[in-house]
This record gives sequence, structure tokens and C-alpha cells, in this order.
Amino acid sequence: MYMASDLHIHTDASDGMLAPQMIVDMAIQAGLSHIAITDHDTIDGIQAIYQGDNKDYHGLTVIPGIEFSTDMPQREIHILGYYIDIKNPILRKQLQVLHVNRRDRARKMVLKVAALGYDIHYDEVLAVAGEKSTIGRPHIARVLVEKNYFPSISSVFDVLLEQNRPGYVPHYKLSVAQIITLIHQANGIPVLAHPGLIADDSVVLDMIHSGVQGLEVYHPSHTKSQTKEYLNLAEKYHLAITGGSDFHATPDRFPEKLGIFTIPDELVLNLQRLSMIGRGGCF
Ligand code: AMP
Ligand code: ZN
Ligand code: FE
Ligand code: FE
Repeated sequence: MYMASDLHIHTDASDGMLAPQMIVDMAIQAGLSHIAITDHDTIDGIQAIYQGDNKDYHGLTVIPGIEFSTDMPQREIHILGYYIDIKNPILRKQLQVLHVNRRDRARKMVLKVAALGYDIHYDEVLAVAGEKSTIGRPHIARVLVEKNYFPSISSVFDVLLEQNRPGYVPHYKLSVAQIITLIHQANGIPVLAHPGLIADDSVVLDMIHSGVQGLEVYHPSHTKSQTKEYLNLAEKYHLAITGGSDFHATPDRFPEKLGIFTIPDELVLNLQRLSMIGRGGCF
């Protein structure tokens, strides 16, 4: 029987719209077999789901994941970490640093946007994001859409928040090597997220040589030919093949619900095997 999984999901612990438990309920409803929660720079969503050591919910397995960001000239790189040990003290300490820095960065971006003439205050962004969550640009965008300055979140990015736009402030500086090391320290598998969005094959090759162990071949932003290209690249370099919907539950962003962009379960089982080899100290 074909079993479907989704290895890229955001909750309201970062910039997703839905609470972690809601994601679990929707995934069960959609009949998914495995999901990975991959919030930006936080494991709070996974922690909210896990009750004790249980990772199984009515046949749905919840895999601990994370998504890190780093800025390079002209582009951003996202690196996913799978099967991370969310109790790892080094990881937790670094996430705390990133959390504080994301709040600082958001404050700076709000000041830049306000200086351009938009009526926006950091408190409003905090209210949208929630007291505890890891703040990102989508929270700022949501405030501007609510105030009718823009028709959609993506239009705010186009005008103000993309890397080369006037409201942008770079992320706290973590290098690719630091991110990969951190994921390994937490016994996780580093995977290059949505290589198609990097839009430069030489950078993708650099990332592979930097030590990512997997490639997110299946992503809603990829064309058919990109998917094929990354499938070939993953095979050539013996990388794990992953994929997911990058679900945020944002109204104007595909997919609008869970279960309509999935990957076959056997890919998840391969990834799981790889994580067990890692634990055995064989690499
Ligand atoms: P940040 O973590 O602050 O760098 O924000 C990154 C988030 O913004 C990611 O979840 C992206 O999916 C989202 N994002 C990036 N570019 C766009 C865009 N053009 N339209 C809508 N969302 C975007
Ligand atoms: Zn996001
Ligand atoms: Fe991403
Ligand atoms: Fe994502």
C-alpha cells in the first residue's frame, strides 16, 4: 500500500499559522504516515507535540526537524536537520541565541519599514507572532497586509522584504559549516532545503561538498525538470532524497492544506536508516 509523508512543515512556533497539535490532527485526518516539523530556528513546536517519549499518534509518526537559514551574497540558503535530538544542550543553547537575534532583527526591519513611511510598530509584529515564537519576515508582512498596505504576503516580500529590498536585514551570521556541525552534534541529518530556490547549481554543488547528506528534491517551488535534475544529483552524490510541502497554512500559498503535496514513505525509511547509521558512529 502506498503510504504518504511530508517532511517540511511549519507551525506557529515559527512563521506557520497553526498550532502544533492542529498540524498533528490535520496530518492524521489526511492519512499521512510520517510528518517532520521543521520550524525556523526552533524546536518548541515539536516539544509541544511530544508527550513523554511518545512520537506516534494514531499511526502518524512525528519526526523532529528544524530549518536553519544563512545569508550568502545575493541568496539565502536553508538547511534542514532531521532526527535531531531536541534535548541536546549545544543545540538548545544555539537556538536561544538565534531566538534573541531574530527578535533584534525583526525590530530593525520594522524600523526600516517604518522609515519608508509605513505605519508599523514592533509591538504589532509581536502580537501577530505570539509571545514565544521565533519571529520572521512573514510576521511583519502579515501586519502590513492586515493594514491594507499590500494585497498579499508575497507582494510585501517583493517590495520590501526580499534580500535586495529596502526593509531587509540579514540573519544572525551562522555559516553553512556551523549549521552542518550543529545538526551533527545533535545527531541529526543535514539536508539542503529547496535547492531550486537557490537558482545556482554551482552553489548547490558547494553545499553538497560542504557535507549535506540529503537533498530536498520534492518541493512545491520546483518545476518538473528541476525535480528531475535534483533527483539525478542526489543519486550521483549518494544523497538522501527528501521532500515536503513547506506548509505554513498561509492562505495565498500552495499547498493550502496537508496531504496534497507528499512523498512516498520509502524515502522517509531511507532517511531513518541513515540517521541510525549516524547514531552507530559509522560516519
Ligand atoms: P525569515 O525566516 O525571516 O528569513 O523568513 C523566511 C520565510 O519567509 C520563509 O518561510 C519563506 O517561505 C517566506 N518567504 C520568503 N520569500 C517569500 C515570498 N516571496 N513570499 C512569501 N513568503 C516568502
Ligand atoms: Zn517559513
Ligand atoms: Fe525554507
Ligand atoms: Fe520552510
